[in-house]
Amino acid sequence: SDSEESDSSGYECLYRVILLGDHGVGKSSLASIFAGIQEKDAHNCIGEDMYERTLTVDGEETTLIVMDTWEAEKQEEDEKWVQDYCMQVGNAYVIVYSITDRSSFESASELRIQLRRIRQAENIPIILVGNKSDLVRCREVAVEEGRACAVVFDCKFIETSASLNHNVQELFEGIVRQIRLRRDSKET
Ligand code: GDP
Ligand code: MG
Repeated sequence: SDSEESDSSGYECLYRVILLGDHGVGKSSLASIFAGIQEKDAHNCIGEDMYERTLTVDGEETTLIVMDTWEAEKQEEDEKWVQDYCMQVGNAYVIVYSITDRSSFESASELRIQLRRIRQAENIPIILVGNKSDLVRCREVAVEEGRACAVVFDCKFIETSASLNHNVQELFEGIVRQIRLRRDSKET
């Protein structure tokens, strides 16, 4: 068992997940559900806008560090630095738009293109998220459009409602499964 422990396997199960998307689409709301901020005994905050939590998915534990740092800096110079950094360090990305805001959907496409350019050679897990699915009367982006966009961009897709806590757990479990698929295909 000594040899099993020597391969730094503790680190292999820790992954940085970066939330991307326009202001107001619901990134912080999704992050706080992940962190369990509404649960009274939650201590998953590991720094400003960073949350760590271990999820058990399909009987296996994986720790995600969710970073809601995309909009952290108000000064334009700093923001550019932070955003470049975000594009470099993620092990997985959640690109969020609001189904009630078409321009946020267009921004999501731009972010996907940017990410592809910066991380060219890598096959990083990306999930496109249409949030605010509860606001049916204000919908500007159809489910089919989101799904089609994900096909074009070769990523996963899910619609969520942070307000109703609908599909949020499924979103983070989906990321864990995507990460494992890539890990397992590397091993063989
Ligand atoms: P961020 O700027 O991307 O971090 O977005 P926030 O999480 O701060 O959310 C922006 C606003 O949208 C807030 O007023 C949230 O309460 C609201 N919001 C976030 N998610 C949802 C959702 O799923 N449904 C509805 N109806 N409102 C949401
Ligand atoms: Mg925010």
